[in-house]
Amino acid sequence: MKDENVEKNLPKYIFVVGGVISGVGKGVAASSIGLIMQARGYKVTSIKIDPYINVDAGTMNPTEHGEVFVLDDGDECDQDMGNYERFLGEDLGRSNYMTTGRVYQEVIRKERNLEYKGKNVEVVPDVPFEVIRRIKEATKNTNSDITIIEIGGTVGEYQNVLFLEAARILKAKHPTDVAFVLVSYLPVPSNLGEMKTKPTQYASRTLNSAGVQADVIIARGPIALDKKRKEKIALFCNVPEENVISAPDVKSIYDIPLNFEKDKMGETLTRVLHLPKKTANLTKWKNFVSKTKNGEEKVKIAVVGKYFDSGDFVLSDVYISILEALKFSSYESHVGIEIACVNSKDFESKKIPLSMLKKYDGVIVPGGFGESGIEGIISAIGYARKEKIPYFGLCYGMQLLVIEFARNVLGLKDANTREINPKSKNLVIDVMEDQKEKIKNNNLGGSMRLGAYPATLVKGTIARNAYGTSTISERHRHRYEVNNEYKEKLEKAGLIFSGMSPDGKLCEIAELSTKDHPFFLGTQFHPEFKARPLSPHPLFSAFIKACIKNKKK
Ligand code: GLN
Repeated sequence: MKDENVEKNLPKYIFVVGGVISGVGKGVAASSIGLIMQARGYKVTSIKIDPYINVDAGTMNPTEHGEVFVLDDGDECDQDMGNYERFLGEDLGRSNYMTTGRVYQEVIRKERNLEYKGKNVEVVPDVPFEVIRRIKEATKNTNSDITIIEIGGTVGEYQNVLFLEAARILKAKHPTDVAFVLVSYLPVPSNLGEMKTKPTQYASRTLNSAGVQADVIIARGPIALDKKRKEKIALFCNVPEENVISAPDVKSIYDIPLNFEKDKMGETLTRVLHLPKKTANLTKWKNFVSKTKNGEEKVKIAVVGKYFDSGDFVLSDVYISILEALKFSSYESHVGIEIACVNSKDFESKKIPLSMLKKYDGVIVPGGFGESGIEGIISAIGYARKEKIPYFGLCYGMQLLVIEFARNVLGLKDANTREINPKSKNLVIDVMEDQKEKIKNNNLGGSMRLGAYPATLVKGTIARNAYGTSTISERHRHRYEVNNEYKEKLEKAGLIFSGMSPDGKLCEIAELSTKDHPFFLGTQFHPEFKARPLSPHPLFSAFIKACIKNKKK
């Protein structure tokens, strides 16, 4: 029998919005929805909308906004874009990310170019129209059947109201092609011990006041939703009971797509979007998830960074792609992982001794900017070098490796980077040629060396053996680089530049011979941005293997 409700109309759009509080995993929910629809054979893409005026995330401080994720095309965007890429296994591009700043910039550009043909340009509807144009453009660029659009923030904020208006208009124009998912939070106040639905009811009503009715409500909370509360939400928020999905806290975010699927999220969205029924093939994902459960044996990694402190709280979100990359590679090696966030400033103040690093099987130093915490990091790198603890430096972590080596092996005591001390006589890390003018003119937004660049690897090195190929492509985000005037001296002292830009001008990877150290390697790029659950990153995997070996020793 033909199902009357089924249309072949594609593409479809799924908006994911948040209610009650932020930080309950809207990005992971959006990614998981993407995965379960992809598992039904659809081509899926995801868009993140950030309500900030900032044109991109590159100008936001990581301790405020979290990690800045970099795409192949060099766009500096929100960390959720990393989740989308990891869950979907797809490379996204600039059109998958928008901010208020970016939208207004385009509307104003068009106005200046007389593209509105003398019309009054109004906040409504011209701004929402530009938002819709962007959503359709991303859908077209990626040739997608289903586009998931996550609107940042929570409903009821002034900031995202124009994006909700865009969503409302799109739904009005394509009633059967647009679905709304509200990710809400159900607190269990400790003095009551009972899960409360009222904040979700308010969130749903606030959404209604923007002209939008949720089709699906994801009930995040510390525990699973019971039948009684499911009924209550259904009744007061105007959704069928089966469209209320329970989403309790989980140990691993990678379980979430499977939990959603169990709670029939895929079927529900199929119904809402008038799509034909299909079964989801999640075999590969299930296989990966089963590996996340192993780990009697755990490898212990110290991430020595400078962006952990936020008042009295410790943030690890700043380095989320690194943490995930480490996990994928340890699961692949059939071990569990324990990651400690070590604040390098605590080495400087002597709050903790360097010798605490001995407890760990490996040390990682992530990227970063500016002076604070840097001497602490350099001494940690020196400790890892001398104590032969596997060390992996990413971007700044590579530049600081070179500085440490220059100071303590080459004996250039004041070796430094121009970023910290331009007066140093030995600037082993210097500003990139094409960055000088930009810095002088204060042209600082989206102007670093950004995005994917190729590099050539040297035979017989850790890097080359890990990748198993001679050319690679990795994502960059930096203004400084190894100063070629020191290259030969550093090499003579034992540092190997195992990865170079194809023209031989830029040092992209530095390492020590395995004769001298089990694993001491730094990359000018950010390999963490290309690590995926189903394809762990070769350098992270080589590092984890060295850590496991170190542990056994
Ligand atoms: N601050 C350094 C530079 O700009 C490193 C940047 C980074 O770690 N992403 O070159």
